[in-house]
Amino acid sequence: MAGHEGFGPGVHWNKLSKSDCERLARDTDIPQWLRVYFAAHWRLNQIAHAEFGPEELAELLAGTAGKPLSKSGLSNAIRTAKEKGLLMEDSSARCLTLPRHHATTGKGSASCREHGIRNRYQAA
Ligand SMILES: [Zn+2]
Repeated sequence: MAGHEGFGPGVHWNKLSKSDCERLARDTDIPQWLRVYFAAHWRLNQIAHAEFGPEELAELLAGTAGKPLSKSGLSNAIRTAKEKGLLMEDSSARCLTLPRHHATTGKGSASCREHGIRNRYQAA
């Protein structure tokens, strides 16, 4: 039981292109909180976590001059995305998590180093 398909009758899913989400995450015309959201979709794994390296997200969200997003800019962007219901409360610069009722994928790992989750579906 994979646990990531269907949440009752009348619930339908879209598919998003991960590579297009990466492109949008890098688009400096888009507000930072929305770029964070696209970054989460780009990196999303089977348990709806999106892990990033230490400076990776700040670099991904660089401005037009290529300068990585500041620490405060990054935490503001993540906080705003949470306020808009796009990210879960346990999201951080090292791992963005999406609400399971909002997004799901069959790609990627089923674990998260940042949140200490190991292969959730392996024993299922
Ligand atoms: Zn995580």
